[in-house]
Amino acid sequence: MLPLLSTILELRHEPDSDPRPAGSIEDVLAMRERDDLNVLFVVIDTLRADRLGTYGYERDTSPTLDRLASGGVRFAHHLAQSTWTKSSMASLWTGMYPKRTGVNRFDDIVPTQAHMPAEILKEAGFNTVALFRNGWLSDNFGFGQGFDVYMRPSTLPIPKSIRIENPTITARGTDEDILAAALEFLRVQGDERFFLYLHMMDVHEYVYDRESALFGGTYSDNYDNSIRWADGVIDVLLAHLAHLGLRENTLIALASDHGEAFGERGVEGHARRLYRETTEVPFIISLPFRLEPGIVVAARTQNIDIWPTLLDLLGLDSPPDIDGHSRVSDILASGRGEAPTEVLGTAMAHLDQTWGQRGRDPMLSVAVTDGSLRYVRREAVPGGEVTEEVFDSRLDPDETRNRLDQDAEALLRLREAADSYLELTPEWGEAPTRELGELELNQLRALGYALP
Ligand SMILES: [Zn+2]
Repeated sequence: MLPLLSTILELRHEPDSDPRPAGSIEDVLAMRERDDLNVLFVVIDTLRADRLGTYGYERDTSPTLDRLASGGVRFAHHLAQSTWTKSSMASLWTGMYPKRTGVNRFDDIVPTQAHMPAEILKEAGFNTVALFRNGWLSDNFGFGQGFDVYMRPSTLPIPKSIRIENPTITARGTDEDILAAALEFLRVQGDERFFLYLHMMDVHEYVYDRESALFGGTYSDNYDNSIRWADGVIDVLLAHLAHLGLRENTLIALASDHGEAFGERGVEGHARRLYRETTEVPFIISLPFRLEPGIVVAARTQNIDIWPTLLDLLGLDSPPDIDGHSRVSDILASGRGEAPTEVLGTAMAHLDQTWGQRGRDPMLSVAVTDGSLRYVRREAVPGGEVTEEVFDSRLDPDETRNRLDQDAEALLRLREAADSYLELTPEWGEAPTRELGELELNQLRALGYALP
């Protein structure tokens, strides 16, 4: 039986009951030897890093995530590999850039040859369970590999206090459905180690309740309201983990697949461009113990680094020949106060601008982020004429002034990085595809995407 939602939500108002002991850098390394750890991986779809308090936002949108970060590890300069869910999540899970996964168009499938983290954790003895609400992540796009249970939770009646502000949304349900299903799983799952992956959608859909409606009424304000709401859902989840005695042996990671634009360059939403507002996302790790103070990793990191890092923390190997790297050494160096050798490294983002159009040739866009510079190249026609832009976030934090002509040497370097990225080939050959039925296309259109 599902727990009563009112009971679930009551725990939200209990005083912070974090039972974890204080820990040290040595405890971080000792996690590799532990055989009692679970993994909770939460993806908040469409979450910009700069809208969270812990990333410097002036509004109090994220008290729970701020708390996780301040007693854990926060990656300060973190990038997603694409700006639409399927391509971005294929890279996040495989640790490979989109050019190498080959998963770039609406009908592409993650190949079975991919060795996914859920498979690695399954082989290591974890029960693996995924609860998701985004149709781009359905099992028949290849994302269920390695999961014992890979499902959309059933929808509960939407409470009257809930508002859904995104006018493009016709889908039903809220992240409370995920919460209820997750709590039920935790209640019955017993003593075996688990890997629980939750993919939350309410920020994507601008869903929030009356209590979270703190920040005004524009489209952008409502986005902040929905972050506050999603933050509260996670607060309840953490309270239940503590209640069940699981905080002290659960490694928690929070990430996102892309950000969201609010007309910064005349474009709204995501899955269309590769600028800072749609590629800069959070990555936060909460350990089975509190770090006092928490660690901030200043080095540039990317979504392809997430699983190499988490598996390394657990003493497990990542597949060979992937593009991502374990950042455990950066965590340790930052925790010991050692200056990082490489403050801001290079990262790549990629989008096929015609990803949703049947029969159209790919029209690629690629962004190279290198130090404080970001180079964004976009084909205006498939395989043809390109526009190029260079921004320097040090001089221009919003990245609105194109400095293409300011530094010829840097431009050459960034162009070369983009060129060599585009020469990469899919690891397993062209990704398999499948025909999408009209019902499925309609469900995906309901998320706000224009599709054939
Ligand atoms: Zn998404």
